Amino acid sequence: MQKILLGTTNKGKMAEIRSLLPMSEHSKWTSLDAFDTSIKVIENGMSFKENALIKAKAYSQYFGLPCLAEDSGLCIEALGTKPGIFSARYASKEATSKENMIKVLKELAHASNREAYYSCVMCFYTPSAVFYTHGKCEGYIAKSIQGDNGFGYDPIFIPKGHTKTFGELSKDVKKSLSHRKQAFEKMIETTSHFTDKNQQHT
Ligand code: IMP
Repeated sequence: MQKILLGTTNKGKMAEIRSLLPMSEHSKWTSLDAFDTSIKVIENGMSFKENALIKAKAYSQYFGLPCLAEDSGLCIEALGTKPGIFSARYASKEATSKENMIKVLKELAHASNREAYYSCVMCFYTPSAVFYTHGKCEGYIAKSIQGDNGFGYDPIFIPKGHTKTFGELSKDVKKSLSHRKQAFEKMIETTSHFTDKNQQHT
């Protein structure tokens, strides 16, 4: 069976993408934690798309497998779409999610516009083809940190149509609205007729 590598070291993303796979597909997918070797990928792209390609290509070439990777982040209108591609390291290079959220809340302390969205660009890389898809989840930044479900900025992100943060809402609600789910479903659709000639006989 042709294996596909899920190219992320982020446990929150990994769990969300795995939860989107039908049971029958689980054995087809492998993730980075299945390998002993740790490879450090430097995400120095200037956009979600560039970073998604950097990760998918690096992991695919290193492990010799087709790879699905993504780059995602929180974009806040009043901050000119920051933190964007710097979401993971907004407060500092080694920042925790809590430190990042506190920085955002301070910056929005006097903002009347709290609109924001999560953006996700997925890249499926094989030596013979590269595919991209995009997903977006719109909402607002809460006034304080609420709940501890999800990961990253979820405890301060209220999705449109709701009054609670993703930190407080159930996994199923996030799954139904998520930027990652949209990008993943589009990727399944986009690649449904693709056969990787390099992998046909593995
Ligand atoms: P990267 O794509 O690994 O560079 O990091 C993405 C960062 O964006 C995460 O570390 C989070 O801070 C944030 N992020 C992306 N997607 C989500 C999400 O679904 N919930 C909360 N935070 C997210």
